[in-house]
Amino acid sequence: MISFIKKLFTGILMFGSFFSASLYSGEKAENAPSPLVLILLGPPGSGKGTQAAMLQEKLHLPHISTGDLLRDHVRRDTDLGKEAKTYMDKGQLVPDGLIFDMLFERVSQKDCATGYILDGFPRTLPQAEALQNRLKGKPTPIVINLDLSDAKIIERLTNRVSCEKCGTPYQLIYSPPKTKGKCDKCDGNLIQRSDDTEAVITKRLKVYHEQTAPLIAFYSKQKLLHTVNCDTQKEKVFSQVIAQIPPAKNG
Ligand SMILES: [Zn+2]
Repeated sequence: MISFIKKLFTGILMFGSFFSASLYSGEKAENAPSPLVLILLGPPGSGKGTQAAMLQEKLHLPHISTGDLLRDHVRRDTDLGKEAKTYMDKGQLVPDGLIFDMLFERVSQKDCATGYILDGFPRTLPQAEALQNRLKGKPTPIVINLDLSDAKIIERLTNRVSCEKCGTPYQLIYSPPKTKGKCDKCDGNLIQRSDDTEAVITKRLKVYHEQTAPLIAFYSKQKLLHTVNCDTQKEKVFSQVIAQIPPAKNG
């Protein structure tokens, strides 16, 4: 009899803890803030990479580049990587579906539970539409459009040089070296990338605008687009970017 009461009692206790645990998790799911998904759009030369790195540090969110993901899968020879490689070997673009499989596998990992930063993706309207369908509005992404005029981009990129020896970048207008043509750190020669010419940049910008204009219209129509002018110092741009994020999330 005593053992029966004991069992019954343990049963009630177990049921009780199970019940409160499920209540707790239900409550937690309701109160937990939805993840912060940031999408960064910006032409080459807008400082998108710099802003992504600053956001990552401030918000403690992983910065996800689909280009890096793709290279990682190929390197690790995963099933997705093997499939992607069949297209790459033929010189074809990896289909969006494969990229999405890699992306959603990545964002289902634990470190993305509070959110993540997408850089360089989506790049086309079909990708943006597919992303919205996969997210199903939960969470709603915040799209930051880093805006800079073509004339300014050309000015920035044609004045970009880096050290031949140590790779330190310099901007001849905004952050020139102390001695012309020489690296401050190691005295190496400063060189310009062969594709940083006005003709090449103009071509890249044309492709960028053709691809991105429909994306901007798409996100703008959904009232998800926040445009930030980048024609100022990176710290000022950053505070503008942070101001677009709801206060509860910009920690
Ligand atoms: Zn150097």
